[in-house]
Amino acid sequence: MTPCILTVHAHPDDESSKGAATIARYHDAGVRTVLVCCTGGEEGEILNPLMDRPGVREQIAEIRRQELAAAAEIIGYDEVVSLGYRDSGMPGAPANAHPDCLAMAPLEEAVERLIAVIRRVRPQVIVGYPEDQSGYPHPDHLRAHELARRAFEATSEPLKLYYTLWPARRMRMIHEKLLELGMESPFGEDFLQRLERHREQRITTEIDTAGFDEVARKALLAHATQVDPNHPLWFSLPDDVRRSVEGTEYYQLASSRVGDPVGVERDFFEGILPFSPLERARAGVGTQQG
Ligand SMILES: [Zn+2]
Repeated sequence: MTPCILTVHAHPDDESSKGAATIARYHDAGVRTVLVCCTGGEEGEILNPLMDRPGVREQIAEIRRQELAAAAEIIGYDEVVSLGYRDSGMPGAPANAHPDCLAMAPLEEAVERLIAVIRRVRPQVIVGYPEDQSGYPHPDHLRAHELARRAFEATSEPLKLYYTLWPARRMRMIHEKLLELGMESPFGEDFLQRLERHREQRITTEIDTAGFDEVARKALLAHATQVDPNHPLWFSLPDDVRRSVEGTEYYQLASSRVGDPVGVERDFFEGILPFSPLERARAGVGTQQG
């Protein structure tokens, strides 16, 4: 059995901002990694002033495809699958009604497309988004959650479904470090407290990504149209400070066919494999392929 993780993301760049270091570590440990990207990101605004120049907007679909390929290579995805839908745009945007967009697609049809990928790839682990997208209610993120959940339920190959979390504790650490350095924080106190009340108790799984933090940063920068290299959240912390607040990525085990974990999980393959691919890699033993 080849250990395999399949992630379901809404747009190019989501794979870099959510769980990239985790995927990098698993890939490094010999686990097969597959990215399903639901849309082409055609509605993404050009957020990097350096990329806001003639010709970019006109060719945005092709440019974002290339950015995604570059980011996936940096992270260590073995395969990138496009589900083939158009970006639905932000809530209320005219793009919501485009006939090719994900929000307009019949849900069953979109689920079938994902099921076909799962049956071919046979991942033991699927990673998607939580149902709570209140912090960023993009129609494609809501859909991506729904697709992963339904496709997991409709197939028997995957044994565990995880949701990526951006926990309050991580934002709090970044917030406090920025203030400590006399810099401006993008997070308000109210926002942080609200997150702390709602999100922390969902964490079931913590993946140690020490040594792989640079991957996410580099992969994000590969999305040159979407990422301002001077963005305060991602790029303003000095490297050593950033390393001190990163180094762990957080997940919620949403559904398991191999029982409930005892205590905090440190590996997606707990209960699936008799060994931890991550521990094996750290001990210098190759993961069995075949
Ligand atoms: Zn997105």
